[in-house]
Amino acid sequence: MKSRSRADLHMHTNCSDGWPSPAELVDRVIARTDLRVIAVTDHDTLEGALRATERAAKTGGVEVVIGEEVSSRDGHILGLFLEGRVRPGMSAAATLHAIHDQGGLAIAPHPFWRTQRRASNGGVVHGVGWLAAALDFDAIEVENATPGFYVFNRMARRLNIGLGAAETGSSDAHILDAVGRAYTEFRGRTAADLRRSLEARETVAGRSRYKAVGLMRYAAWGFNHQRYAAAAAR
Ligand SMILES: [Zn+2]
Ligand SMILES: [Zn+2]
Repeated sequence: MKSRSRADLHMHTNCSDGWPSPAELVDRVIARTDLRVIAVTDHDTLEGALRATERAAKTGGVEVVIGEEVSSRDGHILGLFLEGRVRPGMSAAATLHAIHDQGGLAIAPHPFWRTQRRASNGGVVHGVGWLAAALDFDAIEVENATPGFYVFNRMARRLNIGLGAAETGSSDAHILDAVGRAYTEFRGRTAADLRRSLEARETVAGRSRYKAVGLMRYAAWGFNHQRYAAAAAR
């Protein structure tokens, strides 16, 4: 019986809208967590993941999976184990096809997260919703550590009871305090073990609590992020 390890499979850097640099993210993981594998998944770019991989190659102590959070027309989709960038703006089905075509795994992150604003209004559609059930996702993110996601996570778990896809837990970290707050437990230690565990649908999602100061920093990030998004939409 192989031992189990933890991975955090959804993290952002300043290559998209996160605060830490890829190197800072990797250093934090090594210094403060027991994560063996992380996937860096910046919005619509592989840059953060590639730079995190370089850092981890120097430091050792953690393995980085090349990932991207793709802005499909129907909501965010995570591609892991990618070779090349998947372009944003395609349908969810075409995005999944592009991910699978290059040997990657596709995960539906925060499937039920929607903002109040309608997409036609300049608002953002974040999750793929019920498409998570209709399409061939390799895994469903049932724990997302973003504060306030309790109900969205419950819905994702319920969805996956019917689906039986692999489950993942991820921080969706945009700040260092969030790193490892939710995690995916898998059999083995390496990224290859993680992949096998996902494919065998034996991963287990879990989470740990924020410290109050971390929550305050998350609120600060959200505040800045909303101003940034509002400015970008104008
Ligand atoms: Zn997202
Ligand atoms: Zn994200």
